[in-house]
Amino acid sequence: MDRLISVLSQKDIPSDYLNTPIELLVKYHNLNTSFKEYSSAQLLIGMCMDNRKHMNIPDNFAYIIRSGGANLRYSEFKVSFAISVGDVKHIVLIGHSQCGMVNLVSKKDLFIKKLSENGGWSIEQAEEHFNNYAPMFEIGNEIDFILSETVRLRLRYPKIIIAPMFYKVEDNLLYFIKEN
Ligand SMILES: [Zn+2]
Repeated sequence: MDRLISVLSQKDIPSDYLNTPIELLVKYHNLNTSFKEYSSAQLLIGMCMDNRKHMNIPDNFAYIIRSGGANLRYSEFKVSFAISVGDVKHIVLIGHSQCGMVNLVSKKDLFIKKLSENGGWSIEQAEEHFNNYAPMFEIGNEIDFILSETVRLRLRYPKIIIAPMFYKVEDNLLYFIKEN
């Protein structure tokens, strides 16, 4: 089952998001629409810290919070700041393929070894750190996690329009995630 909606032209954009900054984001990134000038942020983007992704968007267009797996559970004050002081009314959550926050336990030995070698931590410190934090940052499955974060944030900020999206590192394009 294909869980993604590809956007290759304007007509592929779900109608819920037409005439919003979410439409603009996809048009800038996927369709190479020419950039307009902005003097204030139009939306908030939550996306992963992963180095393989970057947004093709104009200056000043968006606040961006980057965190492992696009997990905003520990960034709530920053989300609230963008909504209040930043006056944004739209959020996109962007998961991506091949996310490192999936199946963290498979990276445990590497994490401990390299945090010790590169970061100067003892093996014991590094192992305790992994054991304490990996359960908080594990996302399970990229698409399921973004959908659950979308539901959580819609309940938390009921007046904000939130779109679940996905970035394929294989083609560097944005997709909408199908809901329900
Ligand atoms: Zn990631």
